[in-house]
Amino acid sequence: MDYRCAHRWAFPKWGAALEPIEETLPAPAGREVTIRVTHCGICHSDLHIQAGGFDMGGGKLSSLERAGTKLPVTMGHEIGGEVVEVGPDVTDAKVGDRVVVYPWLGCGECPTCLSGNDHLCNKGARNLGIQLPGGYSDLVRVPHERYLVPVGTLDPARAATFACAGITAYGAIRKLPEAEASDWIAVIGCGGVGMTAVALLSALSKAKVVAIDPDPAKRETAQRYGAALVVDPGSADAARTIIKATGNNVLGVVDFVGAESSSALGVAVVRRGGMVVIVGLFGGEFRCPVPMFPLKSMAVQGSYVAGLNELRELIELAQRVTLPEIPLTLRPLAEVNRSLEDLAAGRVVGRVVLQP
Ligand SMILES: [Zn+2]
Ligand SMILES: [Zn+2]
Repeated sequence: MDYRCAHRWAFPKWGAALEPIEETLPAPAGREVTIRVTHCGICHSDLHIQAGGFDMGGGKLSSLERAGTKLPVTMGHEIGGEVVEVGPDVTDAKVGDRVVVYPWLGCGECPTCLSGNDHLCNKGARNLGIQLPGGYSDLVRVPHERYLVPVGTLDPARAATFACAGITAYGAIRKLPEAEASDWIAVIGCGGVGMTAVALLSALSKAKVVAIDPDPAKRETAQRYGAALVVDPGSADAARTIIKATGNNVLGVVDFVGAESSSALGVAVVRRGGMVVIVGLFGGEFRCPVPMFPLKSMAVQGSYVAGLNELRELIELAQRVTLPEIPLTLRPLAEVNRSLEDLAAGRVVGRVVLQP
């Protein structure tokens, strides 16, 4: 195989289907590394990236183009694979290493990045699968070897999904206040990321989990991963049902939908002194009467993916603790367009992982 010729699936225009393209790679420089992709998970945020931005509410859209993202875009940020080529200054990675790639890159040089919080860098994002070519390709060039995390004994398909679904869930639940056995944590939205959070909370938290999703199949799956209670948010008086069933003891809410209705539900059910963590990027405006903040002494916290160190922790944790497994569907990379359509239509339980 020629490790200097990448075969990518990229969209040439915002909103367009992905098309195969070829790109010649220069020799890796400095501490750059080339990965042969063996697995790449499909994330719901790829639908927003493909569309060109997020719904910011009030009819406004964020724009990846205005933020400097160049076409064509090769998406795919849950990348697992094998090191096939390393730059001349690489010291730790070597050809043959099986790794997951941390994709949420910043400038790579500021104190925030050097502390492992590249995802919070203010100097300019270089995310793999958005600004830099991602894993819907046979090869990925990674700008520095430190973004590689060895998979160890994990199933490589599952480990790849940790780079976004896994750390998004892990980073969000790590922000929750310390819980006791009498507390409840509400998880709103049980797609791939939300279901991972249900599974992680069941394994790591003393609190009981209430899983909230309109899809009966997802509610049933959430129960299998440890949710003590499941609720349909579309049912009449969903908030009152949750407050009653939990004894008004929802200490934390993690909103993996991020819509006006889901954030409103989170604020309605969280107890005094509790926290609502908003993760989902469905879009809209957050509306809440200002007096609710002091009267409930509540915190509303955002969470966007997580740091490099959290990916390392999660991969270490997954090898030590048996985590319930989210259903994975493996498909060839050439089925990427069909898979994105299935995801948009809500036909995916768990995660689709592509194999170049
Ligand atoms: Zn993602
Ligand atoms: Zn930086």
